[in-house]
Amino acid sequence: MHTAKQSFINEQEISKTLDKHSTPSAEEVNEVLVKAREMKGLNLQDVAILTSVTDPVQLEKLFQTANHIKDTIYGKRLVIFAPLYISNLCANECTYCAFRAKNKAIVRRSLTQPEIVKETEMLIKQGHKRVLLVAGESYPNHDFQYVLDSVRSVYEAKHNNAEIRRVNVNVAPLTVEEFKLLKNEKIGTYQIFQETYHQPTYKKVHTGGLKMNYAWRVTALHRAMEAGIDDLGIGVLLGLYDYRFDLLAMMQHIGELERVFGVGPHTISVPRIEPATGSDMASNPPYVVSDFEFRKIVAILRLAVPYTGIIMSTRENAKTRTETFSLGVSQISAGSRTNPGGYEHDDEISGQFSLGDHRSLDEVIRDVAQMGYVPSFCTGCYRLGRTGQDFMDIAKPGTIKAHCGPNALSSFMEYVNNYASPETKKTGIQLIESTIADMEGLPAERARKLVDRVNRGQSDVFC
Ligand code: SAM
Ligand code: SF4
Repeated sequence: MHTAKQSFINEQEISKTLDKHSTPSAEEVNEVLVKAREMKGLNLQDVAILTSVTDPVQLEKLFQTANHIKDTIYGKRLVIFAPLYISNLCANECTYCAFRAKNKAIVRRSLTQPEIVKETEMLIKQGHKRVLLVAGESYPNHDFQYVLDSVRSVYEAKHNNAEIRRVNVNVAPLTVEEFKLLKNEKIGTYQIFQETYHQPTYKKVHTGGLKMNYAWRVTALHRAMEAGIDDLGIGVLLGLYDYRFDLLAMMQHIGELERVFGVGPHTISVPRIEPATGSDMASNPPYVVSDFEFRKIVAILRLAVPYTGIIMSTRENAKTRTETFSLGVSQISAGSRTNPGGYEHDDEISGQFSLGDHRSLDEVIRDVAQMGYVPSFCTGCYRLGRTGQDFMDIAKPGTIKAHCGPNALSSFMEYVNNYASPETKKTGIQLIESTIADMEGLPAERARKLVDRVNRGQSDVFC
């Protein structure tokens, strides 16, 4: 069944569209930018036009449009999460990844459930509320139950009455039955990256194991939807192939999900290949994406799918992260480790790839807050059942701001009161107060009430 479905990625159409719009006129670009401001998204042709923009004046207009959309829909919120690597066992041979089966240069480890609880406690102690659980594609005793148990262990971990409130998952494609089991564990988002939609390149960089099956991977989100998981994350690994092709292919994938299931992905991740132990290709990616192109990609995505969150990980250094916040990034990881057990004992050699940002959560939070962005640990929508289409329905500028703005502030107040260093606390309180002062009407009223409740000792308050 899945082979028929993958025809939604039409390589010929992508190549033809890119060729046709390789040198767009200033009018054509302006038309797309005007359309983007309506915040109804863009089609394949529009995205092709934007990927071809090279004129500095037009690029500046593209960035300004992205900034306008980001501000209108997301305001100054930045959702914060931490990855939790539970195992680096893997049966696949992805040439860019340190976890690939034949790589002898890393120490293999799968955390036991008590170890997962311990790692989670370390994250809770730092102030985290949202975790992205990550694993290679091979589980102890070849038993998928390991992943299910691990999700439960993360939710069960406690420290001083605090807990992780949302577990997102990034593991290899599953069957519909397995997705149903995962849904039963109350996961937040299921995330999977196609790496590249370009089949010849996909074949070249995946040389062993189940991941060689392009069709099985590209249809994973269909099976997740069929199993009732409607909060999905999508992405490509930037650097494997021409990003222009992969952006258009991702648009086709999104279009297909919207057509078949009535809702597209909840998030898009923009990982760039980073150096990885034992991988020559990760140090010399075939299609390097420059810092500038990276910003352009984020801006185009912000215009193309305005209501889909954009996730940037600790792969990027602090400078790039700062530059891309204003263009549309809405979620970032902070204080991350990519080796199983890394929060207790760090060992970067056995990590999945090198990190570009080594700062602690507190340092990242302070920096973000000093830039005027409100770090959000909110998990309200998910816990109120606002997922999939229900989330998209409230994800309209006015409505989302009335919920997410106040919720971001109350969850940040909780962080400030319980986990922040004195310096971060000072910055945080100033930011919370000035943000509420700038708000009006219902959002301002709600924010004041929620923040006051947190200051009276309540936790986990949201609207
Ligand atoms: N094993 C599962 C899979 O491949 O889908 C899930 C976990 S895998 C560790 C998560 C993602 O890490 C992959 O989808 C890939 O995009 C990314 N990744 C692998 N090697 C990387 C590298 N050298 N730099 C940046 N990201 C990398
Ligand atoms: Fe394994 Fe995933 Fe790494 Fe590929 S990307 S080697 S499947 S962990």
